[in-house]
Formats: sequence, C-alpha cells, structure tokens
Amino acid sequence: MLDLLTPTALSDAPVPDSIRLRVLSLGAGVQSTTLALMAAHGEVGPMPDCAIFSDTGWEPKAVYDHLAWLMSPNVLPYPVHIVSGGNIRDDLIAGAQGARWASIPAFTRNVTRAGTAIPVLDEDDNGELIVVGQRIVATDRIDVGMIRRQCTKDYKIVPIRRKVRELVGLAGRRSPRAPIVEQWIGISLDEAIRMKPSFEDWQVNRWPLIERRMTRHDCLRWLARHDYPVPPKSACIGCPFHSDAHWRRMRDSDAEAWADAVLVDRAIRTGFRGIRGQVFLHRSAVPLDEADLSNAGDHRQLDLWPNECEGMCGV
Ligand code: SF4
Repeated sequence: MLDLLTPTALSDAPVPDSIRLRVLSLGAGVQSTTLALMAAHGEVGPMPDCAIFSDTGWEPKAVYDHLAWLMSPNVLPYPVHIVSGGNIRDDLIAGAQGARWASIPAFTRNVTRAGTAIPVLDEDDNGELIVVGQRIVATDRIDVGMIRRQCTKDYKIVPIRRKVRELVGLAGRRSPRAPIVEQWIGISLDEAIRMKPSFEDWQVNRWPLIERRMTRHDCLRWLARHDYPVPPKSACIGCPFHSDAHWRRMRDSDAEAWADAVLVDRAIRTGFRGIRGQVFLHRSAVPLDEADLSNAGDHRQLDLWPNECEGMCGV
C-alpha cells in the first residue's frame, strides 16, 4: 500500500503538463460509478476524456443493465468505450478440457491418503534439496490452495491498455518516456491497500476517491444524495474472491447467476494444465451448492479482494 499522507500517494507521479488523455477505468460497481458521476458533476476534474469498461463476458445481468443506464443519454458527458479480452466463462470451461487458459484465483483441494509415503528433504553441502528418507502419512491430509491469478491482467488490464494506446495514438508505436495518459481508478479509502502505481512511463495512475478520503460507504451516501440508483457489485459471476455474504445474496436473489456459477463450478473440477488436485470456486474447496454459506462465519472471514490489487474488479 502507498503512504496515504504524502502527495505522491494520490497519483503515482506529479501531474505533468504533457497529459493528453484522461481515462476513467470503469468497473460499473459502486466506487467507479460514483467517480464517473462525480466527474460528470464537476466535483472531480479535469473532466475525463472517456471511460473504458472491459467486459469479461461473465458479469451479472444487473451490471450490464447498470452499464447501459450509465451509457444512456444525459448521464455521463463523455463516452464510455467497451472493450474485451474474451469471455472468461467460456475460456474457463475450455481450460478444464485442457485448452490454454488465464487462471482465476480458484481454490484447489489435494488429498494425501493415510499410508502414503512422502519424501523427507534436506539440503546437501551445496544448498541443493535432496531426498534423505521417507515418511508415512498417518491420517488423510487435505491441502487447500489458491491458484495464481492471471485473469485481471488478461481480461481487464490488457484490453484497457490496448484501447488507451489506440486512443492516444500509441498503437504500434514506441512509448514516450514521459506520461501522456492519466488513468483514474475507483479505489475507495477502505480498500487503499489495493493502490498500485503504474509500471508504464507513459501513464500515471490517479485515485480521486482516496484524494477525497471517501470510503465505499461515502460513495453510497453521495449516490443517495444525488438520487442515483445503487450500483450492483461488479465482478465475474463466479469470481472466487466472493464472500459468503455475496454468494448467499446471489443464491437468494439472482437464481440465474447462481445456477450458472454452480454449473461452471462443477465443470472445472479437473483437467486444467499444470494444476494438481480438484478445482473449486468456493474458498472451502467443496462444490458451491454444498458450501456452508450461513451467516455464522462471516465475521471471521478473510476479505480476499485486496488480492485484486489493481482495482480493476469489484469497484
Ligand atoms: S472479477 Fe474475479 S474472476 Fe473476474 S477477472 Fe476479476 S479477479 Fe478474475
């Protein structure tokens, strides 16, 4: 996380005169919607040139409806471009059948049966790992892990970057050494841990909600004050970062999305290249429709969203 007390925390470099394009990264959730509308009201400036929404193809219907409203006449005074890096749902199912895939942060479950011999390792004189014996596992051992996430990069960052470069005239050309693009990201103060500077010389990141010390709750209050609808949570239907409260809401109020998440969860159990064990969408590594989603565990549940540190999903 960046130091919130220094000016450089608010954009990752001083805003240079050379900026030619201001782009708002639109997830169509609470925070990026608030940011987009605050800009429209002139409360954050200068006015962005456009917003870009990267469609993973697997958002709930409510997000697409909300996006359609945002793009309707007289809501935002600047254009919204929709880009895509493919359909994450279809790619996930193809991945479970052995095709190349961009991994989502799904959970793996590996069972080592009682009686299995496992190697005991040590280092030799050169510091190399060597097998020095074996150990018999006394009882069944279950290991749950999380798969390394590539999906944000492939389905969000890369398509948005491609569009930005096209808009600013950099497609197929060498990048300048000085920033010419400012990208606004809708991370709120309560999620400041997700702030990450741009790694590109030609672009700076800016987090206007954090500049104003606005939390997600403040965003909801701002929207209510201006009579705007409450935006839905924007994230893939089957994103493994969902909390139990989110899964429960989906199960109880969006039967279509829930049925699809359960179906995809079943379809991805095995078959991925390079992945050992079974794969699950729910953090407990059991089938989604058998997972315990009761209220009981919510307060001790670890929030996984800070792992999505680019601020491209869920805002
Ligand atoms: S919402 Fe989740 S699954 Fe979808 S791209 Fe973002 S991190 Fe990946």
